[in-house]
Amino acid sequence: MIWNIDFAIAAIIAEIVILFFYVTGGYLPLKRNKYFFRFLVGEIIVVILDIVSSIMHNNHQYYSTFMLYLITIAYFMAFGCAFALYYIYSVTISGMSNRARKITIHVGLIPVFIFMAIILATPFTGFIFTVSSDSGYHRGFGYETIYIAVFIMVVESIIVVSHNRYRITRMQYLGLITFGLITICGAALQILIYKNILITNAAISVALLILYLSLQNPDLLRDRKTGLYGGEAFIQFVDELDEQTDYSFYGLAIENLSVMKKVYGDRNVNNALRAVSRWLKVNFYSGYLYYINNGRFIIVDKKVRDTDEVRLKIESRFKSPWEDRSGYESIQFTEVLTYITNEVVNTSKSALTSIVIKSISDAVKKGSGTYVVINSKMEDEIQRDVIVEKALNRAISNNSIEVYFQPIFSVAEQRVTSAEALARLNDKEFGFISPDEFIKKAEENGRIIELGRQIFEKTCNLIKNNNFGDLGIDYVEVNLSPAQCLQENLANELVNISNKYKVPLYRINLEITETATVDQDMLYTQMNQLIDYGASFSLDDFGTGFSNIVNLLTLPLKIVKIDKSILWAYMEGKSDILTKVVEMFKNQNLEIVVEGVETREMAELLTNMGVDYMQGFYFSKALNVNDFCKYMMTNYPDKESVKIQRIK
Ligand code: C2E
Ligand code: CA
Ligand code: CA
Repeated sequence: MIWNIDFAIAAIIAEIVILFFYVTGGYLPLKRNKYFFRFLVGEIIVVILDIVSSIMHNNHQYYSTFMLYLITIAYFMAFGCAFALYYIYSVTISGMSNRARKITIHVGLIPVFIFMAIILATPFTGFIFTVSSDSGYHRGFGYETIYIAVFIMVVESIIVVSHNRYRITRMQYLGLITFGLITICGAALQILIYKNILITNAAISVALLILYLSLQNPDLLRDRKTGLYGGEAFIQFVDELDEQTDYSFYGLAIENLSVMKKVYGDRNVNNALRAVSRWLKVNFYSGYLYYINNGRFIIVDKKVRDTDEVRLKIESRFKSPWEDRSGYESIQFTEVLTYITNEVVNTSKSALTSIVIKSISDAVKKGSGTYVVINSKMEDEIQRDVIVEKALNRAISNNSIEVYFQPIFSVAEQRVTSAEALARLNDKEFGFISPDEFIKKAEENGRIIELGRQIFEKTCNLIKNNNFGDLGIDYVEVNLSPAQCLQENLANELVNISNKYKVPLYRINLEITETATVDQDMLYTQMNQLIDYGASFSLDDFGTGFSNIVNLLTLPLKIVKIDKSILWAYMEGKSDILTKVVEMFKNQNLEIVVEGVETREMAELLTNMGVDYMQGFYFSKALNVNDFCKYMMTNYPDKESVKIQRIK
């Protein structure tokens, strides 16, 4: 048989081109990338051996039988190895756990080992082929075994990939399946039609090209603007970090990018960002660079050099402007820099992405020129942050936030006439988390709208089911976050919910804080709409901000809640602002609630001052609905012991 090697030549050219692009593209040190590289190199070796052995077979009379066996066996062994690498690559991409991956690889490779054993035995058995200096190369009676082995490996990898379909992207799935199908087609053509043309490997090179384009092209993970790797690449990189790494992690952010864009225009700012990227590439050529978004970079430096040296280098470069390549417009950026200590990198790999990203945001908040070193203490804070976020998300998706009620005592009626609804989060894994933590988190990540809706709905449900009216509760105070007040459909939504539970809105008092007044017009509209339905409003936490009182008093408020800090400062003799604000609000005909009433002394004092309501641990902490109902039943109708008589 005379071999035609034309296809193999085309294949090797294609594969070398792919290898060239792959290596110069600078792929990330991820397992799947390493296996792709090995598979690619393995396949190139296979094609080279295929060409060499075919030429030798065509000219067998010039070579010794031993040499012919040697090269042919080398070819078949390499062929087996390439398929083993292809299989390992598919398994690696499938995103299984480490253990599952190892088992799947070991079991799956058994056919390859059997195939190799058969090849090694072939000089003695003639099973796959025979070759000699005199008569050349001939297929053995078991030649088709090769194709059976190829078929088994391809089918195995298709099974693995399909089975883990939900763990991989559509593109990865299609890429791997197409690879398998093209390989099988190539092998089939060679068996059935082009017996003496080396077509299988040509098919594999086409399939490799598809894999490269669909999954292995480093550009898929790159940010278009800067040409650096993007956030997804960083996550994958961190996912596969080894136990101990010698990488140094820096976060770098350019300040006020959106303002810069308004001043200089998108195009110029993007060009300057590219200039920053180029500079980083030159100065951190042995590391990995990521562009997350909004002027934020992550630098992973391979050389562990002096961090101060790195810092100075970056800071001094940022002192001069960034020239566009065309020299069109040069822009001066100000930067913030963070460094994550190795100790942190090595102890909290699972949270590393959040730590790096949060460290950058924190530094940006602190402002230009900030340099923050993330050490274990900050790591604790950040990990807490991750926990709070996890618990919050879980509570929202399970609708498992609880609503507690804290009694509010009316001085005029000498009994509890209202209560404040307060959210409680008790996570099955992380335990109790305080509202100061999870409400803040929800406000940061935007889930406060959904959370607020759930809280309002639960509150209405509890008011209805426990007949709060009959317990002597005139209305319940519900906290509204500033973000909720900016919602155009807030009033509509609250009205709909209250209708659903048949709780008239005069049973609800909504607490807003002065930060809710950023969009005054929107706030007015929503408030007036709700007031039309019977709701009333309190201004919460008075005294914690820097209120523009004149402005606040234009809001349609019924109640002002004076913050506990004002009461406590008064009790400690530090300030008598309390008496002044009480007087002022009384003159405005606003009802006054004072919070943080912890002792009888405080209660008597406030009664004398003429406040309308008191709330605090002296009366009760926030109670779950059962305890709250019990509390109301024992304290209502009024009991002597609860009364606080005016002294004057
Ligand atoms: P806030 O609206 O000022 O709620 C009053 C807080 O003071 C409550 O803390 C309450 O338990 C606490 N407190 C009441 N009396 C006393 C006292 O005598 N002494 C002391 N030391 N503390 C007292 P809590 O429940 O931890 O809530 C903290 C903050 O979380 C609330 O402050 C509010 O801003 C927010 N929050 C709680 N629930 C919700 C909610 O459902 N929605 C929104 N948007 N925010 C909520
Ligand atoms: Ca409140
Ligand atoms: Ca308050």
